[in-house]
Amino acid sequence: MSIASKIAEITAQLPSGTRLVAVSKYHPADAVREAYDAGQRVFGESHVQEVTAKYQELPKDIEWHFIGHLQTNKVKYIAPFVSLIHSVDSERLLDEIEKQAAKCNRQIPVLLEMHVAQEETKFGFSIDSLRETLKSGGFVEKYPHILFAGIMGMASHVDDENRIRADFQALAAFFNEAKVYVPTFKELSMGMSGDYQIAMQEGSTLVRIGTYIFGERDYA
Ligand SMILES: *Cc1c(COP(=O)(O)O)cnc(C)c1O
Repeated sequence: MSIASKIAEITAQLPSGTRLVAVSKYHPADAVREAYDAGQRVFGESHVQEVTAKYQELPKDIEWHFIGHLQTNKVKYIAPFVSLIHSVDSERLLDEIEKQAAKCNRQIPVLLEMHVAQEETKFGFSIDSLRETLKSGGFVEKYPHILFAGIMGMASHVDDENRIRADFQALAAFFNEAKVYVPTFKELSMGMSGDYQIAMQEGSTLVRIGTYIFGERDYA
């Protein structure tokens, strides 16, 4: 199946209120253009150099979402053009995004990356660590150049559908709770090629799909 037909197939399944982020990392600009010509406008990338090169080369009405681990010393390269950073996983990173967004005279929308999966990882906030901060309004006051748009998370890397669904439910429950503290929260980013159908059922507003659309990635 072509990239265009994959996009059409997924788009037809999206509930109202859910958008597709086509994850084009490691795929050439030509592949992005093929998706663009099929009407796709939102793309996800996880490397600063790669997204910057594609931004320069491709049409300017593309929304570039950054979804990978972001190093503080690289924020400055994407700050002028990035539409949404899904993967904000520390206060140190928020400090840097605030600084670079102020320099660009813009407010950068971000999602806070939550860790709910069973695998150990050093990335992401736990629900318990974030609850009090959000409740107190701390972040919103401290970071005027950041728009807190919601949360992002990944389910456990397992075959057990019940476990995956439980992870998405935990994210959705925290999202609904946090919306009360942070009125600008509107995005719940969850679901990838292998589990996006479950994520959509559990209330995802942004599904991040790469392999299913573009095929396997070449890790050069
Ligand atoms: C690569 C990546 C995706 C896309 O994964 P696929 O399985 O290729 O759909 C989604 N989210 C994040 C954070 C990623 O790094």
